[in-house]
Amino acid sequence: MKAAVVPRIGGKWEVKEIQSPEPSANQVLIKIHASGLCYTDVHITEGRLPIPIEFPRTLGHEPVGEIVAVGEGVISRKVDDRVGVPWVQASCGRCEWCLRGKPMFCAQQIGTGIGIQGSHAEYMVAYADATMLLPDGLAYEQAAPVFCAGYTVWSGLRWANPKPHERIAVVGIGGLGHLALQYSKAAGFETIAITHSKDKEELAHKLGANVVVSDGQGLRGAGGADVILATTNSYKAAADTLRGLRPDGRLMFIGASDEPFTIPSPGEFLANRHQTGHFGLGDRELLAAEWCEIDVFDDVVGKAVGRGHGDILVEGVIPERSRLRERIRNSMCVTHFQVPGSHTQRCAHVPERRICG
Ligand SMILES: [Zn+2]
Ligand SMILES: [Zn+2]
Repeated sequence: MKAAVVPRIGGKWEVKEIQSPEPSANQVLIKIHASGLCYTDVHITEGRLPIPIEFPRTLGHEPVGEIVAVGEGVISRKVDDRVGVPWVQASCGRCEWCLRGKPMFCAQQIGTGIGIQGSHAEYMVAYADATMLLPDGLAYEQAAPVFCAGYTVWSGLRWANPKPHERIAVVGIGGLGHLALQYSKAAGFETIAITHSKDKEELAHKLGANVVVSDGQGLRGAGGADVILATTNSYKAAADTLRGLRPDGRLMFIGASDEPFTIPSPGEFLANRHQTGHFGLGDRELLAAEWCEIDVFDDVVGKAVGRGHGDILVEGVIPERSRLRERIRNSMCVTHFQVPGSHTQRCAHVPERRICG
């Protein structure tokens, strides 16, 4: 079969003839009909992911296609099924995270294109239980991006736990953002697009935005948002939107950036606003990340002013991603804009690790 092969870190992708894979026990063989491109493919090619990856490697983690063979023991899938496969295909089943129902944090997880060949190829194998049936009538080309980009923004929206009356803003109308607008709208929320690009305004409206603004000030002028999904790869643009985050609002980081994230002057933010780091890692149930311990961030510029039950309260600058990314696999940072002192007290009433306030 033909496959796009990355020969080494930093190497050029090469379309090559390679051996077609065969499904082992509990696996299926999928004839790929569409394979979405994700910028993570670039990060992996350039060796920026903090996980050991063997090369040469065929990437691709937004696969959809039809099953053409099933391995021994497969009972839930059959030949001709139309399926897609998310990032996490299998995990150890016995570590803390697997036992907590969060296999996306399992250190032993098998990720599509990481621990097993990816989908930029004519065929790929996948664990049968990891595959998801595609609804009839859904085109392969439309389904593919949902298996990373779509899943990532949808889980960010779920993690923000929006209430029915709340307003959702999406900053960055690109590969992630154009899907975020549609999910937000389809879920019934008043939806605001934030984009500097004039040429995206019409598209944003078409995808479901009730209002389109160009920055945080514009968002504020439009009444603000309770949840901001930062799908941009510019932390500067994400930070700017804080000006339009309503009290009790949540800023969800969904796009990754190499830029440091600088919290603007706290004067405007003493109203219980949160930022939640969120890096989509793929899972059948939910993509997300877990709160980090404060000692992870020994290089926080600024001051840590409290902690409670795994949450951290920080005033200052979150370290740039080069440092943060070491923890991307299983941690995240929650920053509460809150009057220092009240935080720990409030957290004391929260029984589990979770964002509070
Ligand atoms: Zn991806
Ligand atoms: Zn595990």
